[in-house]
Amino acid sequence: MPSFEEARKKVGELVAAKGFGNTPSEIPKKLLFAFIELGEAGDSWKKGRPKEETIEELIDVIFYVLDASRLIDPAADLDLAFEKKLAKNYSRPHRYGEGFSDEAERPASGS
Ligand SMILES: [Mg+2]
Repeated sequence: MPSFEEARKKVGELVAAKGFGNTPSEIPKKLLFAFIELGEAGDSWKKGRPKEETIEELIDVIFYVLDASRLIDPAADLDLAFEKKLAKNYSRPHRYGEGFSDEAERPASGS
């Protein structure tokens, strides 16, 4: 199983082999394509398509994210960035984010 860094390298090799856009000016398009692939994953799931298809769409998302990250900062260590972000998320309070804010503003039930 490849690490993020190994997967990013493989995506870069694929981009070069297939002649896909490979300059920083392509970054917005690659990020947009990541969103489009995420939409395809959502559509696949919503329509009850085989799980394998939905997973493949999610892998497409990962491909575009890795490709964009490669062009944004070729020197970034994604494995390290992942571990740092994971630790950051663990350090957050248990209840965090918009869902908690909405719940906190909701009047207590039964009163
Ligand atoms: Mg797709």
